[in-house]
Amino acid sequence: MRWQVLRQFLFSAWGDEMKIGIMGGTFDPIHLGHLAMAESAREIFELDKILFMPSANPPHKVEQNITPAMHRVMMTFLATKSNENFEVSQAEILRGGISYTIDTMKDLHEKFGEETELFFIIGADSLKDLPTWHKSRELVKKCHFIAAGRPGTEINLSELENFFGEINFNRHIHRIETPGLEISSTDIRERVKAGRSIKYLVPELVEEYIFKEQLYK
Ligand code: ATP
Ligand code: MG
Repeated sequence: MRWQVLRQFLFSAWGDEMKIGIMGGTFDPIHLGHLAMAESAREIFELDKILFMPSANPPHKVEQNITPAMHRVMMTFLATKSNENFEVSQAEILRGGISYTIDTMKDLHEKFGEETELFFIIGADSLKDLPTWHKSRELVKKCHFIAAGRPGTEINLSELENFFGEINFNRHIHRIETPGLEISSTDIRERVKAGRSIKYLVPELVEEYIFKEQLYK
């Protein structure tokens, strides 16, 4: 922890900006697909660290049944603790309610300095929806998006390019090749409910936690 503060200070003193990746999601539960894409993004873009940021529970109960944040945070801690470049951020959970990514990015710029480059890591299904995000055009100017392919999702890139404009699209939206794991939290929840195996889909510690806490039954 102290090393990171020192490192942050040195970066700002030398004018060499930090590059931070943000991996947002419900993480209900976090799985190897999330971890593999984050690690690929870190390596390809030489990110200094990646913040895994579980979303808050929706304020109204009408929303789908999402596991309490405490469990999702715990699983995210367990899944990321063996990677020294991965951290868990509870920023959105502590803020509560619906968090707009643009506000999260503003907070991170305030915390780490305006010169820090922020890279939001998303899957192809989320990239497809990006134009519908709150203030999406402004958001794409403020940070980068690293999009990993997701089996089963086709993206119309020229539609995105038209929406965001050629310059912002080319400079701020990056597509990467990842191991392309066909894993989803929905499938994991269904497997647990049906008494099927989730081995090799989630880290072992997460698998143990799910059974110990009797989640997704
Ligand atoms: P759910 O089935 O509950 O929607 P999920 O597996 O899609 O869960 P999320 O927490 O919704 O997981 O996803 C967080 C982010 O990770 C999103 O940007 C999503 O597109 C991306 N993502 C999740 N799984 C994969 C995967 N296997 N490959 C690529 N991207 C993924
Ligand atoms: Mg999803």
